[in-house]
Amino acid sequence: MYLEFLGTAGYHPSETRHTSCVFLPEVAPGHSFVLDAGSGFFRLVGRSLPDHLHIFLSHPHLDHVMGLTFLLDVLHFHPSQVTIYGDANTIKAIRQTLFGSPLFPLEFDYKVVETRHYHPFAVAGIEIETHPLTHPGGSNAYRFRWPDGKTLCYVTDTIGDGQYHHFISGAPDLLIHERNFPDELADLASSSGHCTTKHLVAAAHASRARQIVATHFNPLTATDPLLEDDVYGQIPGIIGASDCLKIEF
Ligand SMILES: [Zn+2]
Ligand SMILES: [Zn+2]
Repeated sequence: MYLEFLGTAGYHPSETRHTSCVFLPEVAPGHSFVLDAGSGFFRLVGRSLPDHLHIFLSHPHLDHVMGLTFLLDVLHFHPSQVTIYGDANTIKAIRQTLFGSPLFPLEFDYKVVETRHYHPFAVAGIEIETHPLTHPGGSNAYRFRWPDGKTLCYVTDTIGDGQYHHFISGAPDLLIHERNFPDELADLASSSGHCTTKHLVAAAHASRARQIVATHFNPLTATDPLLEDDVYGQIPGIIGASDCLKIEF
């Protein structure tokens, strides 16, 4: 199984990073998953897609949903059956605001599935569950479990308060976790509802994930964000996501 990071910045794109989007081209025969639809979602235009495209949204902030407005081009080149998953708040914001007049006055006629915490559901044989995250307006962590036990946890946009640590525990095969700011910007992290290195390290220990990839970086960081606070030294083996990076898990 592999996935590709199509966008790895929080807030706004930079010269080298688009905003949050992760693409899993083939989670099961005929099915692709996309985790969040930030500006990096445009890169799907150049990717081949199967019959079914499932888009899982953590929350409705623009750096996670604006790419949905690019679906026309994505589907023009590869017509797929689209299903969008998110909590009631997220689905409502997309329907009424993002795709509303005068902002983007096109009909929103995609299939949607409203997720509810502690109500697992299955897509193409993969079990999926969500957990609430503390973030302005709320966000959702996702856990995906394949029939053979392979597990992926996706955690983005949270203050990293630890109330979700049990949800990502049990040594998942891959943990994707945000780390928007270094520790020295803790005040900014707290006011904007994001993690610093300290929170990422705590989540890594709680999870004991076999592989950890940090993403959702401050777009103003010019160099490798994980050089800040010596994250590589604190979490051996961690990978810092970059746009178009492919990961096997
Ligand atoms: Zn974000
Ligand atoms: Zn957010």
